[in-house]
Amino acid sequence: MSEHDIRVRFAPSPTGPLHIGGVRTALYNYLFARKNGGKFILRIEDTDQTRFVPGAEDYIIRAFDWCGIEFDEGVTKGGDYGPYKQSERKAMYKEYADRLMVSGHAYYAFDTAEELTELRKKFEAKKETFTYNAAERKRLKNSLALTEAETQKLLEANTPFVIRFKMPEDQTVRMDDLIRGTIEVQANVLDDKVLFKSDGMPTYHLANVVDDHLMKISHVIRGEEWLPSLPLHVLLYDAFGWETPQFAHLPLLLKPDGKGKLSKRDGDRLGFPVFPLQWTDPKTGETTRGYREDGYFPEAFINMLALLGWNPGDEREIFSLDEMSAAFSIERVGKSGSRFNPEKAKWFNHQYMLKKSNKELAGQFLPFIKKEGVIADIDYIEKVVGLVKERAHFVHELWDQADFFFKAPSEFDPKAVKKRWKQVSYDQMTELKTLLSGLDNFSSGNAESVVKKWIEEKEYSMGAVLNAFRLLIVGALKGPHLFDIIALIGQEETLRRIEIGLYELGRKE
Ligand code: GLU
Repeated sequence: MSEHDIRVRFAPSPTGPLHIGGVRTALYNYLFARKNGGKFILRIEDTDQTRFVPGAEDYIIRAFDWCGIEFDEGVTKGGDYGPYKQSERKAMYKEYADRLMVSGHAYYAFDTAEELTELRKKFEAKKETFTYNAAERKRLKNSLALTEAETQKLLEANTPFVIRFKMPEDQTVRMDDLIRGTIEVQANVLDDKVLFKSDGMPTYHLANVVDDHLMKISHVIRGEEWLPSLPLHVLLYDAFGWETPQFAHLPLLLKPDGKGKLSKRDGDRLGFPVFPLQWTDPKTGETTRGYREDGYFPEAFINMLALLGWNPGDEREIFSLDEMSAAFSIERVGKSGSRFNPEKAKWFNHQYMLKKSNKELAGQFLPFIKKEGVIADIDYIEKVVGLVKERAHFVHELWDQADFFFKAPSEFDPKAVKKRWKQVSYDQMTELKTLLSGLDNFSSGNAESVVKKWIEEKEYSMGAVLNAFRLLIVGALKGPHLFDIIALIGQEETLRRIEIGLYELGRKE
């Protein structure tokens, strides 16, 4: 491997279902790797045992399978830098914490959780915030404030301890971000974060930096919520004497009104999913909807997500994964948050509906037809789909647009009847039935020209005749081109429906 190989990772913590913001982060990493001939790694960051949720890791893996986002290395793939699950790497982190102890960048802290809570309360009472920093650490129970002998004694007595990072004093931390440019922060405002916990596990910060280094990650592309951790991470790389990867912090996904981060609650309130797949909470049993179950095509979902924060620099909106990979660049990722637009999500699905072959859609539509208790030939279904797909956003909406292709109307829309079934309709439809029964060529084009010629010759109202006719065939004033419908259901069925309709609606008095 050369020094400059591109290696990126997605590093979720299995604390619940994956938010679509997380899927977008993974997608940008994937696109960046593809574009640059690099490798994309899936690492599971499960060092926080208190937040572990059973089923979450499996959910994450299934979600990416559904989206078509593939990893080159990681928990499911293996690779030269494994294991890829932090709980399985547990043994190695202590050594790195110890290295920082030896080099003076870290120290033992013996303060108990209760003592720290007490302190926080005291500060709050003074309307101040407690920070474990250079000013405070001198007064607390740690190896910087205690004598060596005192520290040794506590260690020998197996007193629980954590290892904290010793934030430098009076130092400006300089960070470069591919999206945000150079950022500077005064180390004095930062606290001495815990690197290693009393349960023998590293914290996110230590494990994340150590693993990114050991896995030779070249670019860390992650959500904006990790920006506050960046100074610590940069200082950790320095402390270890390691080269820092390049960083890119992606903008947030915002609520549809632009006010704040998109949350599950927004989805519940406004009726759209914020998770790729349905998720059932193992504790409460509560089920939350997913894009897959809502009927989205994975390609449409991914396409929609890609454009929430990135743009190709031209007007194109519809991209396959390959096209996106070719067009992708971090430079075209914006700094400001992107509003989520549920209507646009549906629009994307509709575009993919139009792009898909009638054959593929017919296959997906089939179970819905069966559910209605209808048996139909797949070639017939294909033709139906071709006529109605323009009118639906989702496969599950096709039935409402196409039911009349599979069964004669069992009722007639009362509003349509009131408006379109006129006094003359009964006689006109009776005439039309005779006209159509004499047709040898029942193609859409031929039927249309014969019927229209007849209407003209009789000087009937075109609108009145065709609306009444549609009402008899469809049961409502919906559906694609009327003559396409009758050509597909066929002459016999058309005549039968006219007859039933005449009987049901009768002569309007
Ligand atoms: N485990 C972190 C998360 O859950 C990873 C953040 C990062 O990419 O550094 O998002």
